[in-house]
Amino acid sequence: MRALITGSNGQDGSYLAELLHSRGWEVHALDRTAGSDVATIARHHVGSVDDVETVDRVVAAADPDCIFNLAGMSSVADSWADPVAAARINGVAVVALLHAALRQQESTARRVRFVQASSAEIFGAAERVPQAETTAIRPTSPYGASKAFAHSSVGVSRSRGLHASSAILFNHESPRRPLKFVTRKITNGVARIASGEDFTLSLGNLEAERDWGWAPDYVDALLRMAEADRPDDYVIATGVSRSVRDFVRTAFATVGIADWERHVTTDPSQLRPVDAPVLRGDAGHARRVLGWSPTVTFEQMVERMVHHDLELIARGDA
Ligand code: GDP
Repeated sequence: MRALITGSNGQDGSYLAELLHSRGWEVHALDRTAGSDVATIARHHVGSVDDVETVDRVVAAADPDCIFNLAGMSSVADSWADPVAAARINGVAVVALLHAALRQQESTARRVRFVQASSAEIFGAAERVPQAETTAIRPTSPYGASKAFAHSSVGVSRSRGLHASSAILFNHESPRRPLKFVTRKITNGVARIASGEDFTLSLGNLEAERDWGWAPDYVDALLRMAEADRPDDYVIATGVSRSVRDFVRTAFATVGIADWERHVTTDPSQLRPVDAPVLRGDAGHARRVLGWSPTVTFEQMVERMVHHDLELIARGDA
């Protein structure tokens, strides 16, 4: 089996490349920058999914059995600053990829599967908690709106005969998360405070609740979707939501700091014009059809991330 992973250098792309390689897949990659992981990637294409000509050329060259689309603007905060880029990269680019996949399927007479990294942000201020595949799509951020358009486009291409699935991924974290996401910002900040390198951690909205899972579990779900007999939409989530405040408290507890409040300040510039209040997913459909369930608890995930950041600081790499 041959895969084309877009966004191969990101958190999910790198974990997925490792997983597919370990299962004997040949992995082709498309990312804006050159990759460092030559061991798991057979061929790395440098370019943007934002460029239709690049998409057509790379899909034809890779001739994949499955395209995993993990490229995109991954930060909701960034999408408020540049909503046009969000619409282009998370929305229009997906239509280009789906169209290229369909054409490749038609010209080679071989099935091309497609797995889209969709997002819980499509639910925005959700009508119900927890959210499932049937929950109304009504995004409240430019990021969510762009992902909702892509999500619908996957459904359209499915009705045209493409084995295209959407993974409605709730937040998923790991030591590979960039610092601009709140989880890694917190674990890095807590490690710095515990190491005496810093005293305060400055954050925005502490009341928002997110359903945070372990990223390697989520790429395992993507592979299961690619291998499933039928394409479909799947919520991928733990079913448990925690507030940002809970995350902060848990991370500080990992390093034995109970009076964490004195280390946390509020930075209004980190607040968003609209912030989805509670995102919590019901992954019952994925459990029943794909046999998928999360393997790492919230506490284990926070602990692993804090320990990773403590090690980076001890090595002088942070
Ligand atoms: P998102 O859910 O994809 O937007 O992932 P983030 O990790 O960026 O944000 C998760 C939640 O943390 C959102 O509700 C943010 O408003 C909240 N949050 C609170 N403080 C911060 C902060 O300093 N940085 C970020 N990125 N998010 C914050």
